[in-house]
Parts: sequence; C-alpha cells; structure tokens
Amino acid sequence: MKSLTKHLWFTTKTRRAFINITRDVEELVHKSGIQEGLCLVNAMHITASVFINDDESGLHDDFEKWLEGLAPQEPISRYKHNVGEDNGDAHLKRTIMGREVVVAITDGKLDCGPWEQIFYGEFDGKRKKRVLVKILGE
Ligand code: ZN
Repeated sequence: MKSLTKHLWFTTKTRRAFINITRDVEELVHKSGIQEGLCLVNAMHITASVFINDDESGLHDDFEKWLEGLAPQEPISRYKHNVGEDNGDAHLKRTIMGREVVVAITDGKLDCGPWEQIFYGEFDGKRKKRVLVKILGE
C-alpha cells in the first residue's frame, strides 16, 4: 500500500473564513501516484473545520448567518468556556461544520459529486493553523 501525509497551513486575515482547498488536495492526490484509495482531510484545531459543499458565495453567507444564529460570537460572557478565552463560539461552530472529510480516489482522481468542493472553515483565525491530508491506496 502507498501513502502520502502532508499538512496545509493557513493564517486567515479575518476571524472567520471559508477557503476552497480542493485544488491543493487534488495536487497531493496526483503527487501520491495513488490510483485507487481514500483521501482523509481533517482540521488539526478544535476551532476550525473541513467540510464539503458548494463553492457559492450566497451559500457561504447563509452558512455564516446560520452559524452566528446558533452560536453568536458575542456577548462573550454567554460561554462558560470563555475564561481567559474568547472563542467559545468557534468551538461550537467547528463541531457543527465537522472535523474531517474522506473522499474516494478513483482512477487517480478525487471522486466527488458534480458540485462538491472541499473547504477549510476557520472560526478563530488570524493565527497559523493546519490541515492534515492523508492519502492511502494503491
Ligand atoms: Zn477555546
């Protein structure tokens, strides 16, 4: 069995961001030389997500509003977690949006649906964070 393990690094300028990382993951699949297998992509921080959805700006605004409705950033005092921290909302947002995705590799390519794109979701940014990509197969 072949494998490839790499990290993608992010430092967002804003506290929250959605970044399409499909290209980066595709490049790693190509680099791995694996034709048939699985590709795991996971955030390595408990205030960031990896998820699959449409690359459509209206939808991203909808996600932002929906998440802010469920777990508003402020008032910071509403979260017990915020003792010396201010990211209680980011932990909850991360849990809703998920930690990782697994995508099949078929004929050397990510086997995604027609509109599926892989995103890094940042909920407490402006600092260096990483995503793990692990590709396994033959
Ligand atoms: Zn925290």
